[in-house]
Amino acid sequence: MKCLHNRINGTIYRIHKEEIMEYMMRQKNHFCIFNLGLAVLAFIAMPFHLGAEEKTTIAVVGGTSFGYPPDFGKGLVEEEGSFTVQTKSGESPPIYRMRYKDVPFYYVRMHGEEGRKENQKQGWHFVTTWAALHQLGVTHAFGGATGGSINTGYDFDDLLIADDLILYANQRPQNVLRAAGVERKGVFPSFAEPLCPDLRRLLMEESKKSYHGRIHTSGVIIQDDPARFETPAEIRMMRTMGADWVSHNVGTETIYARQLGIHFALLNSVSNPAVGTRPFTFEDMQNSVQRITAGSGPILLECIARVPRLKHTCGVECTGEPYTGSYTNPKEVE
Ligand SMILES: [Zn+2]
Repeated sequence: MKCLHNRINGTIYRIHKEEIMEYMMRQKNHFCIFNLGLAVLAFIAMPFHLGAEEKTTIAVVGGTSFGYPPDFGKGLVEEEGSFTVQTKSGESPPIYRMRYKDVPFYYVRMHGEEGRKENQKQGWHFVTTWAALHQLGVTHAFGGATGGSINTGYDFDDLLIADDLILYANQRPQNVLRAAGVERKGVFPSFAEPLCPDLRRLLMEESKKSYHGRIHTSGVIIQDDPARFETPAEIRMMRTMGADWVSHNVGTETIYARQLGIHFALLNSVSNPAVGTRPFTFEDMQNSVQRITAGSGPILLECIARVPRLKHTCGVECTGEPYTGSYTNPKEVE
């Protein structure tokens, strides 16, 4: 079915051409001015009647697990254009609207680095990306990156659906609410279970159905400064800290999603054995990324298709625990 898209008050509405034509044809045999008037009214009302139900609440914040960013979903998704959002912290990177199995979702390329301004403060594209997704009403998001396997039991191409994380030597804003000027008064974001167990379950189920390699269903991410790869001594230190896998961006995304009350999980993967663990070359990583991408994209899309039917068990852990008063005075009224 062909659809027209109208944007009214920032919301995208779908208008189904064929339904309007069908209505017009039905009226053809007893055509009169009255029926023409009804047809015109039906056309005008269509975006409000049909489109009001069309909300996009799912997002993919892309990373290296999903390969070359412009190719994401190629041949599998319907592409519906792109736009940017003006947030209090600045203009967002381009946000692409896509559709898979009639489920609409937003896609952001490579952690929001696209269109990043040279003079932008360190990490600020994460702030504008997540502030924009929150502004758009996103409630569920997925991410994923390739990284180094500190855990010597992991190997090239393995998938990791991590359940905890460590931020080390962080240089980005730790509080996206403060950085983006977003208010969520009376909501406590807990990090007792930093990644959404329900979205993690979807990723596990879909990975097990189709992935060609091994899948680790728990593990600890460590994120350090993104400027370079680690040294062997740093990797040994991270191993003793309890980390299984190292990368540079998905930790920030996990923190921001939780602070904004967005269900979030990661399809991470192993493109190298971490510096000092075993030798590897740049070409080894390039080849691994190609093999991972072939499996990870379709897995993620199947998860997206299941989100609208998802029954949540995570409760307020992901969305935040409501409270009254303040930390030191439960009876305080602002
Ligand atoms: Zn959740």
